[in-house]
Amino acid sequence: MKAPRRCCVAPTSKDRAMGFGLSPLSASACLLLAALQTGVPVTEEPRHKVVFANGYVRVIDASLPVGDVTLFHTHELDNVPVVITGGTIRTQVVHGATSDTTLEVGRAWFAKAAYTHQIANIGATPLRFIDAEILARWQSSGAGSTQSGPETTIVENDIVRVARIVLNPQVSLAPHVHAQPLLHVEVSGSANSARPRTAGSFRWLDPGAPHGVANTSDQRYEGVIVEWK
Ligand SMILES: [Zn+2]
Ligand SMILES: [Zn+2]
Repeated sequence: MKAPRRCCVAPTSKDRAMGFGLSPLSASACLLLAALQTGVPVTEEPRHKVVFANGYVRVIDASLPVGDVTLFHTHELDNVPVVITGGTIRTQVVHGATSDTTLEVGRAWFAKAAYTHQIANIGATPLRFIDAEILARWQSSGAGSTQSGPETTIVENDIVRVARIVLNPQVSLAPHVHAQPLLHVEVSGSANSARPRTAGSFRWLDPGAPHGVANTSDQRYEGVIVEWK
């Protein structure tokens, strides 16, 4: 008779001290444990909704109410999260450390794939992110980045350039073009007279498509652009 199948997870010394590991878990228990420890794809995590995709980007709108916690989920793609509604999160990396972070509205960063984690909203405000996943690189013709005055680069690497646009009331960003495609994410709502912009809305722009912001309101405008390379 074959020896019983060993569990996929080696017992720790603490497990042994607790009596675990002496009798191997059943195969089904092993599979369940493995699923819990690896995480679901981010697209199957219920708080993450895919709201747009083309050949280059997949946009996820993620909301986490106060006190809520995600499943362990895996980001298989490099991505740029943009904080639309800020707060405090506790991040647990699978098989790794736990850390608490306060995220202010408008923060954006580059997250290198692949990683598996779980996010808990431990603050007093609901959290919302727009996450731009990089499906493919842009086959650049070699043209350099176009940087307009009010667009301040936050992150730049060989995959993307991420920039913030901040406009005071009655200050506009004149229409201009970029040589690369970009995703323009609205961080603050703005009473733009021509086209109202809602926080968390976004727009994909092909290379050469003019973009600008006419901030004719009495509110500060903030947006984030993710430019493909
Ligand atoms: Zn995540
Ligand atoms: Zn621009």
